[in-house]
Amino acid sequence: MNWHNESITRKIGGLSTVLLSFILIVILYSIIKLLEIGQEMREVARVDIPLTEVLAEVEILQLEQHLLMEQVQLHQIKQNPQVNFEMLKSNFQSFSKKLDSELSRAISLISNGLESGQISQQINEHRQALEDIKAYQAQHKVFQQDAGKILLSSIDGDTELANWRSLEAQDSALDKFAITLLKRIETLTEDIAKNAEKHEREFLAINTALGVTAFFTGIYLTTYIISSFRKRVSSIHGKIESLQESITKREPLSIFDKAALEEPAGADELTDLANDINQVMSKYSEQMTNRYQLEDQLIQLATTDKLTGAFNRHKWDDCLVNELENAKRNGAISLLMFDVDFFKKVNDKYGHDVGDKVLIHLSELVKQHIRKADKLFRLGGEEFAIIVRDLDVIQASTMADKLRGVIEQTLEDGLPRFTVSFGVTQFLKDDDVDSVFKRVDQALYASKNAGRNTVTTL
Ligand code: GH3
Ligand code: MG
Ligand code: MG
Repeated sequence: MNWHNESITRKIGGLSTVLLSFILIVILYSIIKLLEIGQEMREVARVDIPLTEVLAEVEILQLEQHLLMEQVQLHQIKQNPQVNFEMLKSNFQSFSKKLDSELSRAISLISNGLESGQISQQINEHRQALEDIKAYQAQHKVFQQDAGKILLSSIDGDTELANWRSLEAQDSALDKFAITLLKRIETLTEDIAKNAEKHEREFLAINTALGVTAFFTGIYLTTYIISSFRKRVSSIHGKIESLQESITKREPLSIFDKAALEEPAGADELTDLANDINQVMSKYSEQMTNRYQLEDQLIQLATTDKLTGAFNRHKWDDCLVNELENAKRNGAISLLMFDVDFFKKVNDKYGHDVGDKVLIHLSELVKQHIRKADKLFRLGGEEFAIIVRDLDVIQASTMADKLRGVIEQTLEDGLPRFTVSFGVTQFLKDDDVDSVFKRVDQALYASKNAGRNTVTTL
């Protein structure tokens, strides 16, 4: 799956799914672990700690029983009248009974725990402890019976003494047994408690790790999505800006802007938006191009003479003003004005059509012999003008005479020979449009008066 190409909805949906899955895992893991830890804690609280207490009690009782035995022994040997022997015996028996009942309690704690499933940790150790407590109880019962018999008699004779010693040995064996049992149960309880603590720590560590992973994954994915959005949005912004610029400048899109029209990468909603903008941009560009072509055509129509293709009178008025300004700043600019000699006769003799052709031919001929920068105008009828830059009046006069010669020499199929008269002048510092035009017109008039087919400079 190409993540980059996914829609924004799917990207955000994916991000939410990843984060929610993490949270779900954390919750499930927490529930399972808390149940496990709870079970361990319950086992410690309801079985192992009470068991430790019971066995501690057993040990104390065992110790008290041992002390009583000492007292009995002392009484038997010394026949101390101050000691109430009967009371000692009854105490001894009651301790023994108590001890027995404590042992039964311990046995039932473990048995019930095992049966109910409350004990789930170190089951074998618990079973072993149960067996040991049972063995201890059995051993204690034997001791109790033996003690019952021996305590009734005195310990004068050798047999009684031997019996007494055996009872003492049983007592101290029971003592040791009780201590060992207690220690084992304490260790067991400690182990289980430690285990529960360990599980608690693991729980915290794994939960923290999951939380941190979720946090950083969230940050990474969010940053990734935001940065990819930013890139796309800024590219779209760029497109809109260049479109805006084109609209403001009223220009079609530049080459650089056209590069922005390339198919955008990705397949999400922003790509659709970018594509829409691209379409708007190409349509706008197309329309602007058409519009400029149309404007060019209109300008061409508005400034060009239809018959000859030379600039028209309207353009002449504009240019004359501009060139006059130019001349004041940049130096020599000259003006040539020419008029076909006896053109009326051409029309009269050959017809208006031929007259038109003469005008067309004249324009082409002149254009061929002037520089590109020199502008040819048809001022009206068979009257033309040329504005020439960088030529003073002498140079312009030479140019006019060359043109005059070329026209005079021309022999064109279907057209009569004809000549033109020139008036030439230079733009002067104090000139305005009227004064310069008047002077060149006078020069032309002078050429006409001088017999035509000539150049006059003023
Ligand atoms: P001059 O040597 O003194 O200039 O004599 P001319 O006959 O050329 O002068 P005039 O002004 O009397 O005649 C100009 C003629 O040009 C009058 C007009 O019919 C003709 N004319 C003007 N515009 C056009 C045009 O577009 N086509 C044709 N065929 N004739 C035109
Ligand atoms: Mg004429
Ligand atoms: Mg004329």
